[in-house]
Amino acid sequence: MMKLAQKLFIECFSMVRILPDILKEEEGLGAHTAVILASQTFGIRYFWCHPSVRPLGINKAPQCPNCHAVRTLSFTSLTTGSRDFTISCNCGWVEELSMGNPKAILPKVMNGAVIGWANELLYGMKADVDKVWSAHRDFYDRL
Ligand SMILES: [Zn+2]
Repeated sequence: MMKLAQKLFIECFSMVRILPDILKEEEGLGAHTAVILASQTFGIRYFWCHPSVRPLGINKAPQCPNCHAVRTLSFTSLTTGSRDFTISCNCGWVEELSMGNPKAILPKVMNGAVIGWANELLYGMKADVDKVWSAHRDFYDRL
């Protein structure tokens, strides 16, 4: 976290544009926390996805709730477009989960796995985000 906090930002450069690139360099941060960008008109939550650590961004304890063994859980492979998956243990325990926000934007599928930073709109409209994204840099400090 300190590494991200210590990044040098250029004044008046769009946070909406640069934050996704900064987060790509901070995959380790995503294993611990989500990052929220809060502006006056919209809020975006960035959260990290990994098929075995945080499937679709859901943080699951590495311990089976049935047999209490650690690191015995396995996740069904996630295919493009699917937001449902199962977690199972060698002991026979199975849980079905579904991603909370169907409108969340997931990272691209790489080698059949959803890995990387996803994002979801917490408040505001996508049009507000698009307006800031496409604004000329002379207007960054006015949006
Ligand atoms: Zn178990």
